[in-house]
Amino acid sequence: LPKRYGAGEKSVWVEYIQLAAEYKPAVNLGQGFPDYHAPEHVTKALSEIPTSDNPLLNQYTRGFGHPRLVQNLSKVYSPLVGREIDPFNEILVTSGAYEALFSAILGHVDEGDEVIVIEPFFDCYDYMIKSAGGIPKFIALQPKANGDNVTSADWVLDEKELASLFNSKTKMIILNTPHNPLGKAFTQKELELIADLCKKHNVLCLSDEVYEWMVYEPVKHIRIATFPGMWERTITIGSAGKTFSVTGWKTGWAYAHAPLMRNLQVVHQNCVYTCCTPVQEAVARSFEYELARINSPDCYFYSLARELLPKRDFLVKTLRENGFKPTLPEAGYFIIADWTNLTNKIDLSAEPDKYKDYKFTKKLAKEAGLLAIPPTAFYSEEHKHLGENFARFCFIKKDENLVLAEKLLKEWN
Ligand code: PMP
Ligand code: GLN
Repeated sequence: LPKRYGAGEKSVWVEYIQLAAEYKPAVNLGQGFPDYHAPEHVTKALSEIPTSDNPLLNQYTRGFGHPRLVQNLSKVYSPLVGREIDPFNEILVTSGAYEALFSAILGHVDEGDEVIVIEPFFDCYDYMIKSAGGIPKFIALQPKANGDNVTSADWVLDEKELASLFNSKTKMIILNTPHNPLGKAFTQKELELIADLCKKHNVLCLSDEVYEWMVYEPVKHIRIATFPGMWERTITIGSAGKTFSVTGWKTGWAYAHAPLMRNLQVVHQNCVYTCCTPVQEAVARSFEYELARINSPDCYFYSLARELLPKRDFLVKTLRENGFKPTLPEAGYFIIADWTNLTNKIDLSAEPDKYKDYKFTKKLAKEAGLLAIPPTAFYSEEHKHLGENFARFCFIKKDENLVLAEKLLKEWN
């Protein structure tokens, strides 16, 4: 394996999906995806396309994005960013948000460039930066409170430490709001600080906003691309998988000022070239359906968070009642929970893994039949100790499975 991949040969997703297949846990709260149906209009749209009157919908479409989809993305995002987004020059459709991240990083980061990454971070950022020859510089969100009612807003960056990471070699900062795995929605003030540092040091901001619609009242999702002087230096990423609860469709996008998008297009045209046409057509029709009811509470962009809220509250309560200290997430569909109060009850010595959270989650899967993700996968080597006492639970699951999780935890406890 080329050296630039570093430790990237190990992937928590490959390992834990394999684990799920082996242990067959009764409840899988690991990888983030719903275990129930997506909205009917979304799946129905896809089912109709291959046999429709238009044979071209089964053939290659425009490389940088199917015209009907980029036009709809422009209609969705233009009002949200307060400017007219050019569908043909300022949007790129990608193979999941994953490829949007890849094209943005490979298209902008050069040998020796530094990229600031906020920990915990979606694991692929690190390997993508390294495969571009860049150098990741890590800074961790840390909980400023430690009581029983910690929320994701309590996890904050040290402002001086953040400022100290910016220098003449810094090319980019990667922001993820709403945040996986903490569920943090960065505040106006926090984003202002990041925006000011980006402008002062001429740095790009890659804003991963795939959880943009899963935000719980009264918290609001704020787009850093809307800050003064930030449109010219921000690349924003979204995902149809998250937006419409169809993670298997692996369709995402990036939008940004045309000169920034050009670099992403170059990576995309030489790698994926063009994404699946029927899926793009179905995502386009799904957006049209939602745009037609954008002012109604039924619009999926708003109903999804309402549907998730009781699931979040149920799982937080269940975890609390069973010895965990969960951080209440303001957004997203994950809960980070501290399990140190359970240390006395379990013997982790037989598990061969290096990090305690890997040992704990494997034990939990084997003994309780409940799968969670070890958060040290979301930290750099030097900061892995910060994630060791936690496990990540996903709550976009059927109520009956959340109730089963409660039963399994009670029996195990
Ligand atoms: N960014 C974050 C923060 C994620 O959690 C995920 C996982 N879905 C992605 C990007 C990738 O999204 P997609 O499935 O659309 O590739
Ligand atoms: N974003 C999802 C999660 O964090 C899926 C991750 C993946 O498939 N790589 O669980």
